[in-house]
Order: sequence, then structure tokens, then C-alpha cells
Amino acid sequence: MSGAIVGGVQQRPVGTRINAFRYATLAAVDRQRRHCALRAPHLAAQAQAQPFLDQARHALAFAGGQRLGPGQQFVVNVKGRLHAINIQKSVFRCLAAEGNAKATNATANPSTNSAGQDKVNQYPHLLAPLDLGFLRLRNRIVMGAMHTRLETLDRPVERLTAFYAARARGEVGLILTGGFAPNPEGRIEPDGPILNDASQLAPHRAVCDAVHREGGHIALQILHTGRYAKVPECVGPSAIRARINRYTPRAMSLQDIRRTIGDFARTARLAREAGYDGVEVMGSEGYLINEFTAPVTNRRDDEYGGSLENRCRLAVDIVRAVRRACGDDFLLVYRISSIDLVEGGTSASDTAELARRVQQAGADILNTGIGWHESPVPTIAAAVPRAAWAFAARRVKEAVTIPVIASNRINNPELAERLLADGAADLVSMARPLLADPEFAKKAREGRADEINTCIACNQSCLDRIFTERPASCLVNPRAGNEIEFAAAPARSPKRIAVVGGGPAGMAFAVDAAERGHRVTLFEASEKLGGQLNLAVAVPGKGEFNETMRYFRVRLARLGVEVKLGERVDAGALLAGGFDEIVLATGVKPRLPELPGIDDLKVVSYVDVLTGRVRVGQRVAIIGAGGIGFDVADFLLADADESLRPERFFGAWGVDPAAATGGLETQAHPRTRRRLVHMFQRKADKLGANLGKTTGWILKARLRESGVQMISGATYTAIDDAGLHYVVDGVPNVLPVDHVVICAGQESDRDLYDSLVARGAQPRLIGGADVAAELDAARAIEQAMRLACEI
Ligand code: NAP
Ligand code: SF4
Repeated sequence: MSGAIVGGVQQRPVGTRINAFRYATLAAVDRQRRHCALRAPHLAAQAQAQPFLDQARHALAFAGGQRLGPGQQFVVNVKGRLHAINIQKSVFRCLAAEGNAKATNATANPSTNSAGQDKVNQYPHLLAPLDLGFLRLRNRIVMGAMHTRLETLDRPVERLTAFYAARARGEVGLILTGGFAPNPEGRIEPDGPILNDASQLAPHRAVCDAVHREGGHIALQILHTGRYAKVPECVGPSAIRARINRYTPRAMSLQDIRRTIGDFARTARLAREAGYDGVEVMGSEGYLINEFTAPVTNRRDDEYGGSLENRCRLAVDIVRAVRRACGDDFLLVYRISSIDLVEGGTSASDTAELARRVQQAGADILNTGIGWHESPVPTIAAAVPRAAWAFAARRVKEAVTIPVIASNRINNPELAERLLADGAADLVSMARPLLADPEFAKKAREGRADEINTCIACNQSCLDRIFTERPASCLVNPRAGNEIEFAAAPARSPKRIAVVGGGPAGMAFAVDAAERGHRVTLFEASEKLGGQLNLAVAVPGKGEFNETMRYFRVRLARLGVEVKLGERVDAGALLAGGFDEIVLATGVKPRLPELPGIDDLKVVSYVDVLTGRVRVGQRVAIIGAGGIGFDVADFLLADADESLRPERFFGAWGVDPAAATGGLETQAHPRTRRRLVHMFQRKADKLGANLGKTTGWILKARLRESGVQMISGATYTAIDDAGLHYVVDGVPNVLPVDHVVICAGQESDRDLYDSLVARGAQPRLIGGADVAAELDAARAIEQAMRLACEI
């Protein structure tokens, strides 16, 4: 039974027939394998005697059943065959192979889909409970910690309660809250969240109660931000300023360290008092504990610096102190930096040793963090291939016997299931995917994964907002963080509604209105739903928009929205249709600047380029450097596979999983210069100033390395056979080019609106048809949802 064990674990009393499966991660079996050396596919897989049994029981405990003891049996699914295993004191004995796993699963583990039909559990590992003895999580889906900033809005407790309750109702296994500092100097910013006094407990109690009422579990993250704290009194292991903070930290004294350890324990105790099921000690992403473990930020020469043992000491001391303060029946998750992605960061072998020490100190689960906030490598944006970092979680898992959580760019249940089945981890963390769809777990369980609103890793409405001091929401799900405003209520008087335009605004409105009970007909002039999203998917890293289109298509069909494709409806037909409401989401038309030579054959629109209608030459000028200008440049230059294939991504960004320090190569591979691209704008500012805070740097770095020339403050004078004529600082220039791509923004398409109004109708406008300037999908979808809630 060596190597690939690929199925689930089931518990049953001795001698009874298998009638109810409890699937669980084969991580657990893998772990047993390490202890009990199950080798033969059939008989007498011998354990290595005591102290194996306790370990094996523990492993099985989180394998999905209750705690198992001698005399009990369970079944292992090995390459599609089920093997009954009997626990005989300290021996695992494989009794027999029985049946075909797939066939048996189908009868043994049914759930019901939205159509009321029995549905096979397609995610046996992901949906397996995790029983830690004192706590039983209903599945392996963890909502990772994310600071939402909801506490900065009005009615913060109501908002946070509704936000977390929605995720618990959606059946997530475990929620980790955004980080709370254990002391003032550990706060992320002057008013950042802190839990250091019993007087602060009331809102926490409300959140915990709400989550528990929905059958969920919740743990509070304790986050000391160390030298990342945007407060002048910030501290760190050594007085070394972070590139991303203007404050230099004060090096902590031994007294500071001891007090901080006590502060962590106090916050954990308060969390327990508030009703949390546990805490997560944040030891990754370059925050305080991580700064102690990494040589690059820890230059101490006392017992907290220097040797590996000393660098691990703060982590170990904190975990011990929290465990002492809260007892054995309180969940303790430690988030370890599984790969630092900074020069001078922790090596893979040191990380493994840290993991072992943290386990010994009393952690129940290890969550894995990827990279520091100052890493020169993208870690969660769409530029990162899905599950690219699974190797780092697997490496941690191989070092310990407690469950390990994989994280970053895991956004669908199939992928999550595969990671668990492959033994890369025991649970998966999904923070943004739970913003995008609070019912992610429930839909997976009900066989409705195709109805999951998938996180597209754009960061636009979540991290970009958080990092610019605005509360988080979600581009594809504007209800996130706005649960109290947009509680779904059935329409008082259902109406017949015509929606014109099947882009993001039209689709979102149609879905939300139909959910409220309205009868909706959606007209789309082209043969395909999606609008501008059909262009976006051509851009490297934006293929995730295909998921958004799939989500809308499936929801429209399930809600019975009548979708009329290829139908360019006119005012007469709409008025004759007798609709109660007409909603226009007719979108935008690309703007064509007035310029001598704009009709020249070498002038093309971004639509021509992204649809592939025109193949541009080797020398290209892009007029307009907004989001689409940058996207077009990336489309013309980037390796489309970089965001799809981890090895290509690692090569391009200089990641070496085996590197001795921090996981970075000394140098990234130079990018191929596929074309000579010049980008222009009229404004004098730097190009790309308005790109997303957390993703713009990725795009700019990629284009810089691809040799793009960026020219601001340009006045365009003409386009002719010689190329693009322009003036900068009063100096005329001519750039010889094969093509000029116009990315000069858009104008609203309101022809239909105008003719409806002329006939006395009062249509509603949403999306780009309403406001084209600075139009983005986030605004279009949010506006659509707001209107659907009102109508
Ligand atoms: P945009 O962001 O409004 O940019 C239009 C660009 O065209 C600007 O650089 C503007 O710069 C230039 N321009 C405007 N009028 C012009 C004229 N008459 N002649 C010449 N140049 C002119 O529009 P977009 O790039 O089409 O993007 C539309 C929206 O999609 C964006 O606002 C964004 O929200 C969203 N989007 C975002 C991303 C992203 O963040 N990665 C990607 C794609 C799309 P000057 O006026 O200085 O010349
Ligand atoms: Fe995901 Fe984008 Fe929504 Fe953030 S805004 S949760 S990245 S889809």
C-alpha cells in the first residue's frame, strides 16, 4: 500500500455492513502510513507498535470519524479499491479488499442537488468532517483570515455578525477572523483591531453566537504586525525598517518579548471568554513572529536570535503560553510561513523544523502562509497559477503529524478536493472565495458547484480596498460586507422585466431580480453572454472571468430567466412586449479620438486586438494607458501560460522552491521581448497610477521587463505612413510603428435609451450605458444589484 492512497476513510462497528460513509482525507492515512508502515495492498500491514497507537488514533480522529480504538474497523480507498482495516491494539491490519470505491461511494454517500435528485458526493475529502476530539469541524474548508475593515462603518457589530453568519450558514468548516493585535504596538495602524481587555468582548460574543447558531466554528486570529505596524511605536526583533513601512521598529528587549508572549496568551484567554472555538497565532506574511524566525530580520545575539532554535523560540513560547492559558480543549492554529519569498528568508529545512517545534509546543493545526507583504513575487493575484503553492503546504505536512491547511489561489472545490486527495494538505483555506460566495461549501455539498460564484483573484474590491483604507467587498459579489443592506427579500409585487444587454451589469441584474421573484427576459444582441468579459478573458491572467460567465449562465438558466441571444431588440419591440420595467445595460462603445489619420489602416481598436480580428505587427503604439491599455500591452507581450503553469510562473518570477533561503533564486529568468511596444497618455503623471494597489505593480513589473516604453504628457498630432506623430515637452517626435492600438476609454451606448425616452418610456440605465468613464465590472455589478433590490 505504499505510495498513492487515493480515497477516503470510513468508520464502522466491527461485523456490521457498510451503510454510511464518513469520508476523510487520506492525509490521515498517509500519516498512519508513516507510523504504521502499511505496505502490502492486502494483508498484515504492521504498525510500529507504541507510541504509534496514540498517533494513529489522533490521525483517525481528524480523519472524519469519532476517535477510534482497538477493535474498530475502517475502510481505506486505495486506487479505487476499498480495503477494510482493523485496529488491533497497536497493529493496523488490512483485512480484505472489497468492492469498487466509485460504485460504493455512489450508494453510500448521497446528497441531494437543487433539483431534488440524489447526487454523488464529488468531494469526499473536502467535505469530510475533521474531529479533533474536543472539536468537530463539518468539513475541510477554512475561511482564511481577512481584515475586512467593516468595523470602520456604521453598525459595525451588526455588519460583522451578518458577514460571518452568512459564511457559517453557507457551511464553511472553520472561520478565521481578521487579525486582532494582542497589544497597542502590534496593531496594523493606530485604530487597528485589538483585543487586550475584557471590556472589548461584547462584539466578539455577538459574532461567536451568530456563527454558532448557524452550526459553524470560529477562531480569532491574533496578529502582532511587528515592523509592519503603521504606528511610530512599532517593534521588531531588530531595528531594521521594512521597505513598505516608513517607521523603523524599535528592537524588542527581553522584557518586551516576555510581555508580548503574555499579551498573546491574554488575548487567547479573552477569545475563549468571548466564545471563540480557538485562535490562530499569526506567524507568517512577515509579521512579528515571522520576523523572529527569518535570519534577514532577526540580528539578535540573545536567546531569541542567531541559531535556528533561538529564532524559533518566540513562536514556540507563544504557542506554549496560549496553550497553557486556554487548555487542551481550545483550538490552536499556528500560521507558519511555508515560504518567505524574501532574500535572506527562512530555508525549507528550517521551516520544517519550526513546524515540528510548533507542533510539539501544542498547536493543533498548521495553516500555511505564502510570502511576505514585501515579497517581489505575486502570491495571490490572478497572475499566480491556481494552487501554485501547494508544494509549500505539502512540505510542511511532511514535517508534522498534525493537520495542515493549504492556501492561496485555491478557488474551486474540484481543485481543493484534488489537493487533499493527493495528500498535499488536510484542509484548504479560502478567504476571497468565501467573499465571492458565502455558500461555497453548501453548494459543493449539494452538488451545485456549477452555481458557485468563483473568486477571480482580481483583488479589486477586497484587498485593493483594504489597502487603501476602505472596507472590503467583492467584485463578483457586492453583497459581501453589505449583507445588512442587501438582505435578499422576495419582491412585494413580481413584475415582468426586460433587460437589454448580457454583459456583467445585465446578467447580474437579471439574476438578482429573478431571485426576488420577478419574471425576467434578457436580450443580448450577440450570440454570447458576457459583454466586455469576453474581451477580458483573452488577457493573460484574466481567464478566471470565464468562471464569472459560467456562474451567470448557470444561475440565469436555473432561475428560469428567458435569455434571447442574437436579438438586437429595438424600442418598438420592447414597448410592444408589455414589460413593467425596462432595464438597459447596453454597455459602451470604444472612444475614437479625433486625430488626423485616425482612419489609417494601421489604426485598430483594442476590441480588434483582443478578439484576434487583427494580428498586430512587431512595432506597436498604444494610445491610452488606462486599465485596458495596460491589458492590451500585456496581451501583446506576456507569456499566456505564466499564470496557468506553476513552473513557468516560478521561472518568470525567480522562485526556487528548493532555494537555501526564502525560496528565491538569485535572478529571475529574463522575459522574451516579443514586440516593441510604446504606451502613451496625455496626462503628465506616471503611467499606471490608477491601476489596482495590489496588482498594478505586477503588471508594471512584467511590462517593464518586457521592454515597454512609457510616454506621458504626449499630444498626438497625426498618424500616417511614417507612424505616430506626437509632441512631448514641445518637442515633435515620430514613432515608426506597424499598428496604433486605440485604448482611449469608452462612451456609453445609449441609442436605445434615447429612442425609448423619445417614445415616452422611462427605462433604467445600469453599467457602462449609465456611466462609461472609469467603468469597471465591480461598479456595474454593484449598481445592477442595488437596482434589483429596489425594483
Ligand atoms: P480608462 O481607464 O478611462 O483609460 C482611458 C485612457 O485613454 C486614459 O489613459 C486616457 O488618458 C486616454 N484617453 C481618454 N480620452 C482620450 C482621447 N480623447 N484621446 C486620447 N486618449 C484618451 O479606460 P480603459 O482603459 O478603457 O478602461 C476602462 C475601465 O475598465 C477602467 O476604468 C477600469 O476600471 C477597467 N479596467 C481595469 C483594469 C485593471 O485595473 N487592470 C483593466 C481593464 C479594465 P489621457 O486622457 O491622459 O490621455
Ligand atoms: Fe475575489 Fe476579486 Fe472578489 Fe476579491 S474582489 S474576493 S479577488 S473576485
